[in-house]
Amino acid sequence: MIEELKQLFCLQKIDDTLFDIEKLKKEIPEKSVHIDAEIRKREKDFLNIEKELNDTIKKRRRLEGNLDTENEKLKRYQKQLFEVKTNKEYTAMLSEIENAKAKISELEEEILILFDKTDHLVKEVEVLRKKLEDEKQKLLKEKEFLSEKMKSLAQDLLIKKDERTRLIVGMKPELLKNYERIRKGRNGSAVVQIKKGFCSGCFTSLPAQFIHDLKKRDKIYTCEQCGRILVWDERNE
Ligand SMILES: [Zn+2]
Repeated sequence: MIEELKQLFCLQKIDDTLFDIEKLKKEIPEKSVHIDAEIRKREKDFLNIEKELNDTIKKRRRLEGNLDTENEKLKRYQKQLFEVKTNKEYTAMLSEIENAKAKISELEEEILILFDKTDHLVKEVEVLRKKLEDEKQKLLKEKEFLSEKMKSLAQDLLIKKDERTRLIVGMKPELLKNYERIRKGRNGSAVVQIKKGFCSGCFTSLPAQFIHDLKKRDKIYTCEQCGRILVWDERNE
């Protein structure tokens, strides 16, 4: 009976490992997709700031063009001021000059603000470019690690499956059938240890006499509450 219990306990351990491997194999591609999305998001954030910088420069150049036009207008008006014939024309020309001056001062102020904004954005773009590169490297490394992990998991899976095949060949068919039946109904766990007098599958307290009998290992004992096969954890002794 000791041999059978050992087989069952071993089989459960293998199946637990297989479960963990399968779970990781499912999680890794999801993590990888998440990393790709993260990289795209950070690239987009960077491109937005870069676009803002380019737009600011374009706007400033446009306003500088407008400023040139207004300055030419002003010069022309100032020249024409000496050529007018009537008082009415003179007053009108003065008003044009005032308008042009006001427009020039407004444009100069706006251009100055845009220069400041450009300086600020250039610095921000530089910092973000460096940050993006660092983060991208980190994320790509993480992806590489996951891909390596995936390969080693595939290997582990083969090894464990092989171990399982070899183990069940030596098991009594009835024992295996019983194990599979309990495992199916109990979320994959058919064999559990007794820990501090409790069934570690359902945490029911087990009577002292029951544990005393179970330790003899003369037959297979199952938990009355959850039906799992119980094994005595040697470390309890
Ligand atoms: Zn139980």
